[in-house]
Amino acid sequence: MLYATHAEVNLAAIAHNVRQARSLAPGKKVLVALKAQAYGHGAVPVARHLVAEGLVDWFGVATTPEGIELRDAGIDTPILRLSHCFPEELDAAIAADITVPVVDATTIDELARAADRAGRSAYPVHLAIDTGMRRIGCEPRDAVAMAGLVAERGLDLQGLFTHLPISDTPRGDEFTRAQLARFLAAVRDVQQARADAGLAPVPLVHASNSGAVLGHPVPECTMVRPGIMVYGYYPDPEGTPRPVELQQALTWKSRVSFVKRVLAGETVGYGRTWTAPEDSWVATVPVGYGDGFSRLNSNRGRMLVGGAGYPVAGRVCMDQTMLDLGPATPGSQPPVKVGDEVVVLGRQGDQAIGADELAGLMGTISYEVTCLINQRVERVYR
Ligand code: PLP
Repeated sequence: MLYATHAEVNLAAIAHNVRQARSLAPGKKVLVALKAQAYGHGAVPVARHLVAEGLVDWFGVATTPEGIELRDAGIDTPILRLSHCFPEELDAAIAADITVPVVDATTIDELARAADRAGRSAYPVHLAIDTGMRRIGCEPRDAVAMAGLVAERGLDLQGLFTHLPISDTPRGDEFTRAQLARFLAAVRDVQQARADAGLAPVPLVHASNSGAVLGHPVPECTMVRPGIMVYGYYPDPEGTPRPVELQQALTWKSRVSFVKRVLAGETVGYGRTWTAPEDSWVATVPVGYGDGFSRLNSNRGRMLVGGAGYPVAGRVCMDQTMLDLGPATPGSQPPVKVGDEVVVLGRQGDQAIGADELAGLMGTISYEVTCLINQRVERVYR
């Protein structure tokens, strides 16, 4: 039974967004970031759809269990773990054919030993080069030595990559350009050193998250790694260029569970933080912070009912939220009734609440808004 509070994920919109990414990176391979349950959209159904549509070359995950979940679901597309892999996870990662990044001599050694244990010679690896994110990766000046060590230890250097922390806004253009120049210089050095050693060039060179796919084409790269744009959001709602139209894939729905008249001066909810300015209709909706509708929306957010937006009245509870439906004049009827559809996030009629709107109220980004939607909120796919 589908509970009143659920999220509809439009897989065709996700496919559309990947096509847009492909159109901006012609001839390049596309790795779709599927971490954190595909940014809250559900990793396995999203992966299956993109594979069925023939739209994806790689998937990116953050953790080994995320990669294993995809393998258990029958996904045999190459998977790159985007973050550092602890040594105790390497055996499981190799058993599931998950490609891991290496960042220094220690991680190369750990991976080489794990590949030996598994009897996997020439296990593929991507070298992370840190050009300014300061998260993981070797210094660009060490890239040649690290690449040499990878080859020496019998691993297959399949990728060279970096990450761009401010590619999503023109404010960061200068920094991003300088990062890319450092990265491409390191790539050239590695490729030259390999040529000198009689080794084939590293095939996968990648740097572009959504911000760079949308605003910083890098002809020298052979793969891009979009995440948030796949789900329909521009990484910076104000700054990111919009060369293509994206479609927001997720609609978070519920239904009105209760409607009542609240008298002027009465308060609504925990902490008594909202006082009815006049006799008012108030609706209750079974969505709360236990579903991922942050308590930061208390007295600030809004939800759509019958194509109109109604403000949150009082504090968001764990499982329920109240909406101010406006004045309850004598003899009036409430504008909504029990059972009416509520849209927490997404479109209803000609109104829409985007993750960027909620993010703005919460002082965060769309990424966190969709990731926060709890597993209790069943995802349905269409
Ligand atoms: N590449 C790496 C290494 C990442 O960590 C991420 C996500 O943060 C992405 C690509 C995708 O980034 P975005 O969602 O901004 O497109």
